[in-house]
Amino acid sequence: MDHFLYRGGVLHAEDVPLPEIAEAVGTPFYCYSTATLTRHFRLFDEALDGVDHLVCYAMKAASNQAILKTLAGLGAGMDVVSGGEYARARAAGVPGERIVFSGVGKTRDEMRLALEGGVRQVNVESEPELHALSEVATGLGLSVPIAVRVNPDVDARTHAKIATGKSENKFGIPIARAREVYAEAARLPGIEVVGIDVHIGSQLTDLEPFRLAYRKVAELTDVLRADGHDIRRLDLGGGLGIPYTRSNEAPPLPVEYGAMIREELGHLGCEIEIEPGRLIVGNAGILVSRVIYLKSGEGRDFLILDAAMNDLIRPAMYDAHHDIVPVIEPAPGVAQTPYDVVGPVCESGDTFARGRMLPPLAEGDLVAFRSAGAYGAVMSSEYNTRPLIPEILVNERDFAVIRARPTFDEMINRDTIPEWL
Ligand SMILES: *Cc1c(COP(=O)(O)O)cnc(C)c1O
Repeated sequence: MDHFLYRGGVLHAEDVPLPEIAEAVGTPFYCYSTATLTRHFRLFDEALDGVDHLVCYAMKAASNQAILKTLAGLGAGMDVVSGGEYARARAAGVPGERIVFSGVGKTRDEMRLALEGGVRQVNVESEPELHALSEVATGLGLSVPIAVRVNPDVDARTHAKIATGKSENKFGIPIARAREVYAEAARLPGIEVVGIDVHIGSQLTDLEPFRLAYRKVAELTDVLRADGHDIRRLDLGGGLGIPYTRSNEAPPLPVEYGAMIREELGHLGCEIEIEPGRLIVGNAGILVSRVIYLKSGEGRDFLILDAAMNDLIRPAMYDAHHDIVPVIEPAPGVAQTPYDVVGPVCESGDTFARGRMLPPLAEGDLVAFRSAGAYGAVMSSEYNTRPLIPEILVNERDFAVIRARPTFDEMINRDTIPEWL
């Protein structure tokens, strides 16, 4: 459910008509709804009601300071995957004890930053990383709580580029080697084992892969406890999928996910961490764009938008589908025609959809890409020297620019000319 609905024939974000924002900031722009963000965070939090838990928002999905502050204010922790994300979380007021540091290649500098600033736990993904972390922690005279990310060799049945829990993926330590690695962790100075971490992928539309992975985690908890490790925390990762189309998909709800977690892991008495990203912010954000031209090709009509692959790369990168809707509601029963929806970038990959059935559109019309809140703005670039597009946050009848569009001069002035030129 989201808060982008037609009212009086015009698509709104909460109580704000989108043409009003387009008028104020120009197009294209990302627009997020506070009410949807809040609702989705609470769904996860309530799904684990009665269980000692922390919902750590995976901020790589959308990391604008205003989004982080909104979620932090609701009690969210953060899952960070780089030093930059750690700094962002702290800048948004998230205390170190609510920040989990994940990621397959943390540098010593990044570790130092997190240890000095305070961190709830570092999720370790390899033995070399474990040794580096021990060195950094002892160098600072600290002890760092860790979980080892295990790779359960489970097929997440999602797009290959976002599956992370099979043995051929680069993530985590093969679960069969976990005892060895935990024994090593227990021997190393500056390392305090507190739990187990697992994350098998993103956009999962079925609970079964999670269940299989969590069962393996439960078995491993027993084994590691018998080996003398104090396993008191389980980090179950993120990955619950969202509906990208209105019609056929119905991924499991957070409440069903929470019930499954209790079933599989409730008896262990561990504190539970989950790291949802996409489900919190995906349907809380849209991308609004304007039609520049309509162009008739051979047997196809191209709808050329002012948004492009550099603004929203998911279709080019993951063959992702985004519903595209006109901001002015079409009359009921109006005939739809197929369009190839494209951006202005000089690559054929800059195609959002082929043969998409849409009501008739004209130059200057506004359209909205739904479900663009996650892995949208954060993956954008200035390819073709197209400015990063603004991000807008709506809260009931208010809206605010939470990241402004840079001017051409601001973009150009980031380059510096060597003295010999
Ligand atoms: C990407 C990621 C997540 C979030 O995944 P979503 O599909 O956005 O919920 C959580 N944990 C880790 C370690 C990740 O890399």
